[in-house]
Amino acid sequence: MSDSAISKFFEKTREERLSIVRDFANLSSEELEILQSNNGGISFEKANNMIENAIGTFSLPLGVATSFKINGKDYLVPMVIEEPSVIAAASKGAKIARIRGGFKATADESYSIGQIQILDTDIDLAIKKIQQSSKEIITLANSKSNTLSKMNKGAKEVSCKKIDTPLGKMLIAELLIDVGDAMGANVTNTMCEAVSPLIEKITEGRTLLRILSNYSTRRIVKATAVFDKNEIGGDDVVDDIILAYQFADNDVYRAVTHNKGIMNGIIAVSNATGQDSRAIEAAANAYAARSGQYRSLSTWTKDSDGNLIGTLELPLSVGIVGGIANVHPLAKVCMKILGISSAQELACVITSTGLAQNYSAIRALSTEGIQKGHMRLHARNLAAAAGAKPEQIDKIVQKMIENKKISLDQAKEILLNFDL
Ligand code: NAD
Repeated sequence: MSDSAISKFFEKTREERLSIVRDFANLSSEELEILQSNNGGISFEKANNMIENAIGTFSLPLGVATSFKINGKDYLVPMVIEEPSVIAAASKGAKIARIRGGFKATADESYSIGQIQILDTDIDLAIKKIQQSSKEIITLANSKSNTLSKMNKGAKEVSCKKIDTPLGKMLIAELLIDVGDAMGANVTNTMCEAVSPLIEKITEGRTLLRILSNYSTRRIVKATAVFDKNEIGGDDVVDDIILAYQFADNDVYRAVTHNKGIMNGIIAVSNATGQDSRAIEAAANAYAARSGQYRSLSTWTKDSDGNLIGTLELPLSVGIVGGIANVHPLAKVCMKILGISSAQELACVITSTGLAQNYSAIRALSTEGIQKGHMRLHARNLAAAAGAKPEQIDKIVQKMIENKKISLDQAKEILLNFDL
């Protein structure tokens, strides 16, 4: 099995990095070419087929985080992100976690929830009738996906709930659908629309909305890791990290920023693999508030030896088929780099990356602060924005750090006044 703990990956040239990734993931020369192309992976024609009113494409940096071991398997994790430090932080977190075996992660089967809003009906009677006809409803729903039916997946249950609104009580029927290795939005919507005439007939009511819920609470994924106390700075650092976590768990202003750090990892991998990041964020934020107060998505404790234990749990609706995962050439190559074979495995990788990210952020915040590491990387962006050539960037960054002034004006001044 390939080893993802690659020493000093960040110091290597692009060619060296690409050749490591190629060997790790057994990429073909065509796949390597896709990674090397500078058009961001899709042609205008493809973009024009994806959205309306297209006028171009928009590229972001793609990198890989190293050192990930998840459920005993090594991964190089592709991440698409514009923010400096994120990939370095994920790799650092993974490096520390792997000392004690890496991440352990589990993911539920891919159950999607479809909702049908039913109005103008006798709610209690309608619930009874829907329950009596549940088999018929499920059969009709499953007639809409041969693929899922053949895999013994598809719609499995119908349930009902009443909700109170200022405009009166409403009945909501929910279809629970095993969507296999897809995110499943389209098949869920299709099934909801398909069964609604039957539901109207059964309930003698009127259906209004027929749509999946992005609050995918039947697709929960959980990752955990032990971070060796000596590697992270000893008992005091562990205790401070736990105190920092308590701050996040009990103060919404801190919790939002804490969870944003987790999302740095989750969304970067989601973008690289062509996931619907809006769905992921919306579900994660709702889950963070499930107790009635918005809290930390992760928990930080210590074991009896004083080692730090991190756990991250959230609903995660991701797919390895469907959406743009099979359309965007770079997303396809990123999937190949990950070497994953199921939606659950992808969910485990994404969640472990979020946890690694959270570890690095909370450790930095509890010790030297994040600006030291962050600003060096930020300084590189500023130097580039000031117009520095690639070979000038390191010197300008060094000078800004020496001068203890990291700003665009400073980068421009150094560029103008120094012989580089
Ligand atoms: P999709 O519409 O491409 O459907 C997946 C396809 O893969 C299906 O045709 C299915 O039959 C097939 N398939 C093949 N092998 C499979 C397997 N092993 N498991 C499951 N399916 C298999 O993709 P989708 O996942 O239904 O929809 C995702 C897209 O829908 C995303 O782009 C998302 O942005 C978009 N979307 C989202 C929302 C929302 O989140 N509210 C609403 C509408 C659309």
